[in-house]
Amino acid sequence: MVRRSAQPNATRTEQLVGVQRNCLHCGRGMWQDYENRRRIRTLNGLVQLRLKIRHCPNLECVGYRQPYRPEAKGQWALPQQEFGLDVIALVGQLRHQEHRSVGEIHQQLQQRNLCVSERTVSHLLARYDELVALRLGDRQRLRTVLQAQQQVVLAIDGLQPDVGHEVLWVIRDCLSGEILLSRTLLSATHADLAALFEEVKQWLPVPIAGAISDGQHSIRKVVSVAFPEVAHGLCQFHYLREAARQIYDADRHAKKELKKQARGARTLEQQHLADDVTDEVMQGYCQAARSALTDDGRPPLDAAGLRLQQRVSAIEQSLARVEQKGGCLNP
Ligand SMILES: [Zn+2]
Repeated sequence: MVRRSAQPNATRTEQLVGVQRNCLHCGRGMWQDYENRRRIRTLNGLVQLRLKIRHCPNLECVGYRQPYRPEAKGQWALPQQEFGLDVIALVGQLRHQEHRSVGEIHQQLQQRNLCVSERTVSHLLARYDELVALRLGDRQRLRTVLQAQQQVVLAIDGLQPDVGHEVLWVIRDCLSGEILLSRTLLSATHADLAALFEEVKQWLPVPIAGAISDGQHSIRKVVSVAFPEVAHGLCQFHYLREAARQIYDADRHAKKELKKQARGARTLEQQHLADDVTDEVMQGYCQAARSALTDDGRPPLDAAGLRLQQRVSAIEQSLARVEQKGGCLNP
């Protein structure tokens, strides 16, 4: 969007000078050449950067008249970006850690005196994602992390956002929590997965102590072929779910049957609204019934059917008490 107003005045000025004083190529002292000015919008106001640019005066040097910029400029902002890295980090944190929407992030930035458009927020979010991708793809850094722990335990899973979509395959190290490889594949054949494993195996600097997956047959096969000596465990969540399958099925069936009996709360509520009768008590009961019906619980440890039964019983008992006290309820 075109800016309609002039940029406000800088709240402070920072002068950046290069630490390196001699030419990197020939070693001769560099000369002070000119000054670049740049304004960065940070969380702590608008900062005017004054960058002192140097160059090598040696005619025979490959670095002759090549600008040498202060090293510290990279910690302020990305090249050609108006916003500081602190703003990008905040936007990323709000989005991915606190699950805020673009609109909410926009509001928060406004509150911190950063007047931006919502489109700018999306733009900043894209920069954040790029930086994260860059960090995850930095194998040199990963090697250092993994070497320190001397082994890895691989977790493998495929995530499909929707039916018919590509599957995002992620191979992670359980010990450090680092993502070692992520790739989208249209199909998940034996050969496709084997290629992913082979790639990770190639650059891993430490031995693989174990592998964990949901036990999908194609993964089992590939792990046994690619890493024959590696123990392959079932993920605890999937293990528990498999073990509790029978209880879960019985619970789900019970919930379905219970739901059949409890239908009609919405119709009852709407009838009351249509009659223009604002019966608070009635509405309260309808709301309680509705929320009980839509509460799915967290299988397998939290049985949704049992919970529904408890909640419906509580509502029933409450209604019985009302009747005892002589209250009047519509059928
Ligand atoms: Zn030089």
